[in-house]
Amino acid sequence: MGKLDGYKVDLKGMATDTVSYQWQADNDFFSAVQGQEIKQGLLDVALRVKRTSGAYELEFQLKGEVEVTCDRCLEPMSQPIDAQCTLRVRMGDEYADDGDVVTIPEREGVINVAWNIYEFAALQIPLRHVHPDCPSLTSQEEKESDPRWEALRELVNVK
Ligand SMILES: [Zn+2]
Repeated sequence: MGKLDGYKVDLKGMATDTVSYQWQADNDFFSAVQGQEIKQGLLDVALRVKRTSGAYELEFQLKGEVEVTCDRCLEPMSQPIDAQCTLRVRMGDEYADDGDVVTIPEREGVINVAWNIYEFAALQIPLRHVHPDCPSLTSQEEKESDPRWEALRELVNVK
């Protein structure tokens, strides 16, 4: 059994028109997924699968925190995640992903949503992510304002 086998959703075998799943995506999850941007985190993931005529709507709810790298000092920083995302799935002959709809082979009827969960989380990370009190930001600002402080000090000394 692979580490991410628990994220398989059996669509073909749905006994009712709505099925719910719940996972906790932790550090083991993120290391198994091997994504570029998020290496660690802790997310509560809830999934509601709704079967409609010929398709399935997968509604994900992600809540928690992930660890990303600060753009500025390259140290880890925590990024809160609170998102709702929908994935549409339908059955077909072969696996296909056209962005809006994922097609899975009907003979299997199962989709592993581990990577989708990862992608939904990664989409929530702002393009520019910097610690609110990033140490490299502070030290750079101090350096930049040094000459002005020098001038001010001189003024004070003159008086
Ligand atoms: Zn930083």
